[in-house]
Amino acid sequence: MTIDLEALYIDLHRHPELSFQETRTAGIAAQHLRDLGLDVEEGVGITGVVGLLANGEGPTVWLRADMDALPVEEQTGLPYASTATGVDPSGTTVPVMHACGHDMHVTAMIGAVEQLVATRDEWSGTVVVLIQPAEEYGAGARAMLDAGILVRYPKPDVVLGQHVTPLPAGIIGVRSGTQMAASDGLTVTLHGRGGHGSRPHTTIDPVVMAAATVMRLQTITSREVNPQEVAVVTVGSIHAGLKNNIIPTEAKLELSLRYPNDEMRDKVLASVERIVRAEAAASGAEREPEIRTDHTLPPTINDVDATARVTAALQRALGEQSVIDPGMFTGSEDVSWFARDSGAPLVFWFWGGFDPVRFAEAIAGGTADADVPTNHSPFYAPEIHPTIEVGVTAMTTAAREFLA
Ligand code: ZN
Ligand code: ZN
Repeated sequence: MTIDLEALYIDLHRHPELSFQETRTAGIAAQHLRDLGLDVEEGVGITGVVGLLANGEGPTVWLRADMDALPVEEQTGLPYASTATGVDPSGTTVPVMHACGHDMHVTAMIGAVEQLVATRDEWSGTVVVLIQPAEEYGAGARAMLDAGILVRYPKPDVVLGQHVTPLPAGIIGVRSGTQMAASDGLTVTLHGRGGHGSRPHTTIDPVVMAAATVMRLQTITSREVNPQEVAVVTVGSIHAGLKNNIIPTEAKLELSLRYPNDEMRDKVLASVERIVRAEAAASGAEREPEIRTDHTLPPTINDVDATARVTAALQRALGEQSVIDPGMFTGSEDVSWFARDSGAPLVFWFWGGFDPVRFAEAIAGGTADADVPTNHSPFYAPEIHPTIEVGVTAMTTAAREFLA
C-alpha cells in the first residue's frame, strides 16, 4: 500500500498547530512511521516524534523535519486553506497557518521514509527520523536534545534536513559553509520619567528616546558593517504608552539580529548595546536601559565534504541544472543544534515550491518581491506537485548517499 501524500499534505495544511502544540500532527506522523515498521517514540521534547529504522550494519543518518505552524491568517484562497485558530502563549486566540511550509516537510519526510523502507534490501545502516516541534520558537531541536535523544538513539554520522522555499518547484538550493544566519532576539527596555503630556519639560520621554534609538540602530548595518558583509538589525516591535496626553515611564523594543558568524555577532551586539545606552544617556535617562536576550540561534553551517556528496547525488537524481547555490539566507534555523551537540556534519538544503512559469515571469518583470510570497506570508503555499515528489526524492537521495 502506498501512502497518499497529497491527501496527507492537504490534511496537515488544513490543520496547522502552533509551536509545542503539534499533538495532532505528531500523532499522524507517528502513526505513519509505525505503519511503515519503525520503532516510534512520541512526546520527545514535549510534542516531538522519533522514529527508528534499524537495517543492519552501517552508518547512522538523522533525518529531520519540523512540523509547527504560525499565527498567521491564511489568505491564499486555496480550497484547502486553513481556517484554524489556536491559543498562543499569552492566552490570545490567533489564526493559525502553515505559512512556513512545515506541513510539506512532514509530508516529504513520510514519503522519504516510505521509499527507504521499500528499498531496504539495497542499503544497510540506521535511520533516525526526527519530527521536530517548535522550530518557529527556535526551541524544538533543543527540547528534543534535552530529552536525551543523543543518549537513547544511535549517534548520527550525518544530520540531514530540508526547507521548502519560494524557489521554482524542481530546484534545489544548497551551499557549502554558512547556509543560514545566526540570530538573536533581544528585548530592550528604555526607562524614562512619566508625566502629563502638556508638560514634557518635567518628564524624560521614553517615546522620543525609543524613536531616536530605532533610527540610530539602523546605522549599524549602513555605517558600521562592511558593505561586503551581511548583517540585519530589525526592530520588529515597539510599545510605549496608553494615551495621548500621558508621557509613559518606559518603552520596549524587540530586536531581531542576524549575522553569518560569531565575529559579526560580537560586533553587532556591542554596537546595539553602545547605541541603546548612549541614546538613553542623551535623553537624560535616570536609569540604565535593560537589554535581555530572548533567544539565540547559531548559524546553520553545512559541512563541506558532506555537502559536496549531497550536491553530487542530487544532481544525479534531479539533473545538474536543478541544483543551485542560493547564497546565504538571512533567516535562521535550529536544525544545527542536532549537528552541534552530536559533533556530526550537517547538510541542510532548500527546495522550491513556486510555479516555475510564474516565477520566471516575476523575475522578468522585476516584480518578484511583490509577486512571489515568501515563507511567513499569508499568501505563502507551495505548489503541491511536484514539490512533494522533489522533497521525497531529495531526502531519500541524500539519506541513501550516506547509508551503506
Ligand atoms: Zn518559519
Ligand atoms: Zn520554517
